Amino acid sequence: MERRNAWLSYKEAEETEMEKLAKAYREFLDKGKTERECVAEIVKEAEAAGYESLESKLEKGEKIKAGDKVYAVGMKKIVALFHVGTEELSGGMSILCAHIDSPRLDVKQNPLYEDTDLAYLDTHYYGGVKKYQWVTLPLAMHGVVAKKDGSIVEISIGEDAEDPVLYITDLLIHLSGKQLQKKAAEVIEGEMLDILIGSRPLADLPDDKKKDAVKQNVLNILNEKYGIEEEDFLSAELEIVPAGKARDCGLDRSMIAAYGQDDRVCAYTSLAAMLEMEETPKRTGCCLLVDKEEIGSVGATGMQSRFFENSVAELLDGMGCYSELALRRALRNSSMLSSDVSAGYDPAYGEAFEKKNAAYLGRGIVLNKFTGARGKSGSNDANAEYVARVRRIFDDHNVAFQTAELGKVDFGGGGTIAYIAALYGMEVIDSGVAVLSMHAPWEIISKSDLYEAKKGYVAFLKNA
Ligand code: MN
Ligand code: MN
Repeated sequence: MERRNAWLSYKEAEETEMEKLAKAYREFLDKGKTERECVAEIVKEAEAAGYESLESKLEKGEKIKAGDKVYAVGMKKIVALFHVGTEELSGGMSILCAHIDSPRLDVKQNPLYEDTDLAYLDTHYYGGVKKYQWVTLPLAMHGVVAKKDGSIVEISIGEDAEDPVLYITDLLIHLSGKQLQKKAAEVIEGEMLDILIGSRPLADLPDDKKKDAVKQNVLNILNEKYGIEEEDFLSAELEIVPAGKARDCGLDRSMIAAYGQDDRVCAYTSLAAMLEMEETPKRTGCCLLVDKEEIGSVGATGMQSRFFENSVAELLDGMGCYSELALRRALRNSSMLSSDVSAGYDPAYGEAFEKKNAAYLGRGIVLNKFTGARGKSGSNDANAEYVARVRRIFDDHNVAFQTAELGKVDFGGGGTIAYIAALYGMEVIDSGVAVLSMHAPWEIISKSDLYEAKKGYVAFLKNA
């Protein structure tokens, strides 16, 4: 049951469309390197496509009706879009779900220190990372500093060609005899991921400040440029990510190399499919883009929160048909594609995969009936009947798809958010795009999979 390479089926018009999508996707990745930046960009694109804030519509006392396009945002990090259909909401929705947080290094609350005339920011990594991959790369800092007066300072350093970049050092090869004997997990340890941010001491300091002259200089720059003081780090969310733009990859330009494609490749294609849906659907369409997946879907902006449920309750209320039972029915009767990236088969590491059940670059959107580890632990095991329905939708609409599981049995594993949505009793299956070097600073996907994923989401919204 080998699946065909999707590239072999394209005509010129499709290739043009694919390149257009790839360009818009790269631009989205460049604008959204954090969950907050992603939400800001998603709201901007949604508003341009006619979406309005659900909250402000309700505040104005406007009734929600079929054909309305509304969005809800939680803490600037989680967002849900609804395109209200003609059928009753308690009959369920067609939901595209993905996550917009990605592995990175977070700046600690008390981060700044100086050692031997070099100034550093201490970090705590977020999500699963191979720490040795994050050294000796140009890095950027994105995020916000919330000040006591209630103002928010937005920070983005390292992306413009004129910007300085940040950096984490590694030991030179000449002195690495001992380091290279260590296990890969210990070569670079978590506390060694400190960001080098300065080396120039401030002159003419009083004696008691002289030992921190480089740090003082950094603080002065932060104060001049952003109006922030050292204590303001206490209420900041600053994320260290690879600096630079998403790029085409390969001489044939068939792939994209970029930071954060887990899971922004699924988030962007889901969003694009949602925004493209112009006619009022029968069944309400929804695109839910969540935060905190990489650390277990925790917190007020993760999938385990009540954000989605509350948003659907508000929607029902706005339509004048809220009841606890209507809410439960709306959720239970829904169908979801829980979209997240799949491990792409990598011939260099072939022993980690079982070839018949691996995801391949270029063979289309991936369906994972289950994820999890060991005996499927932590997995949502999608219902066979539902898998059949999704297969039919994809086949009927010429969407290239493949099925896979995450590597060989007992080689490791991983979870997604599907099992959380499944708690409502809705139909949900993991789907998504195959990635090479998942969770590395630069990840690789195939443009054809990007294209097929979007096609799949469009077909799902219209037919699920
Ligand atoms: Mn993911
Ligand atoms: Mn991940």
